[in-house]
Order: sequence, then C-alpha cells, then structure tokens
Amino acid sequence: MTANPLIAAYKKPALYVALPSKGKWYDPKPKLSVDGELAVYAMSARDELITKTPDALFNGEATVALIQSCCPDIENPRQVPVNDLLIILLAIRQASYGNELSVDIKCTHCEAINQMAVDGNVLLSRVTENTYDNLIKLENGFALELTPYTIEDRTRLQIQQVKQQAIVQQLVQAEEQGEEKMQEQFGKTFVEIAELTVELVARCIRSVHLPEKGSEPITEYQDIFDWLKIITKKDYDEIRNRVEQLSENNLDTNFESKCLECGKDYKTNVELDIAGFFAG
Ligand SMILES: [Zn+2]
Repeated sequence: MTANPLIAAYKKPALYVALPSKGKWYDPKPKLSVDGELAVYAMSARDELITKTPDALFNGEATVALIQSCCPDIENPRQVPVNDLLIILLAIRQASYGNELSVDIKCTHCEAINQMAVDGNVLLSRVTENTYDNLIKLENGFALELTPYTIEDRTRLQIQQVKQQAIVQQLVQAEEQGEEKMQEQFGKTFVEIAELTVELVARCIRSVHLPEKGSEPITEYQDIFDWLKIITKKDYDEIRNRVEQLSENNLDTNFESKCLECGKDYKTNVELDIAGFFAG
C-alpha cells in the first residue's frame, strides 16, 4: 500500500465490509481479508472536502478519488462493479462518521415525514451476495458471458442523462418561441443516448459463443457492439435485463418504524440518497 512508515503506522482500517460481488468482476481483484471482506479506512480531511463539493458523488472522479483513498485494496476504482458502489460508500461514511444514518421517511398511514435513525451496521450486515448467473443462452443458441456495469459506465450514463435533460429543457423553451431547429438537435441527442446505452451493454459482454459447437467465442468489443445493434429487441432486452440484475446491490433497505405523528407502526423502504450521505 505505502512505503512511508509514518503513513503505514497512522492508517488503520476502521471497518471491514462484505461486498455483494464477493470481489468478482474486479480487475485486478481487490485484496480481501481472510473472511472475504474489504478493509475500509476513515476519510482524510482532504476526502471530506471532496464530499462537501455540491453533487460531488454524482461526479465519477470524486467517487473514484474517495474509493482510492478509503479503500486502497481496490487497485482500480474505475472498474468497481456498480453493485458494490452503494455498500462501499455506506461503509466509507460509517468509517468516518459512525453508525447512525439519519433519513427522512414518509409514514404509510398519514404521510407525515419522520426522521429516522438507521443503524449502518444493520444495513451492512444485510448485504447478500448477488447470485444471478452471468451466463445466459438466447433462444437461438447464442450464449453470452456477462458482467455488471462499472463505476465508469455509470458516470458516462449520468453525463449523458444530464445532457439529455438540458436538451429537453431547451426544446420546451424553443417550442414556446416557435423555433424548429431544436427538434433537430433533440433528435441527434436522442440517437447519441441510444448508441451509448448499446455501448454500455456491449462493454458488459465478455464473450459471445456462437450456436455452432466448437466455434471460437467472440471477444472483440467492436464485433460485439456491431452485433448488438442488429439483434432483435427481445434478445437485446434479455441481455440488458441480466446486466442490470448483475448490477443490483441486493441491499435490503426495509425498516419498521413507529410514526411520531399518528403513532402507528409501519414498514418502509429507506431510500439511500448517496449525495445526502455525507452532508452531516
Ligand atoms: Zn403516521
């Protein structure tokens, strides 16, 4: 990790966390403890500054820098599968600020907003392995080896989505002013986003095996990307759905609580907003 004896003596892991991926998909694999858990260190003063930047965690570079600093056993944070991302950020938050996580939730009976203290340990202890099979076989005999999305993929998608939102907004304004040129721009952006979606799925395909027995599997990215553009929607959806399932974090966020307003017990799903995580 580091050759500096001062740093080595100072930096100790604050906690260990089990990952939904169990370290699969990483390249290179992260160093895990004998129990298969990842060491997580508290944020430094510099890291805290990163998290205080508005929307910092929606910015991929900030996320990468944070993981680099707090999870040094992950060599290449850009390639972290997204199913581990929320857990890793939750663990970093906990390593730095303690167990208690305050969230606003709505009572299912009277809709009053309650502030609830969620125990981060409970959340992290509920992490279960993502067990979706990464091999799928299409009806026509093509077999694929898949991976989840990475942090890098997620960042690129978010940048595109922001771009799309901006264009939609401009389109609405342009329409109010009776302009036609925006239509064209919107169409172009829409095609770009469709292409990117296909590209991201293509990056999650490690290999395609042809139906013919004994033929060499296809691993060339460009071949896979071009193939993905011509396959049927049904085949494409099947592949994409599995990539999304492989990208799920499997975190059970259901909690029971008593409403402070109406006094009734209710069960709710706690939405973990990554940007709000580090606000406190
Ligand atoms: Zn209530």
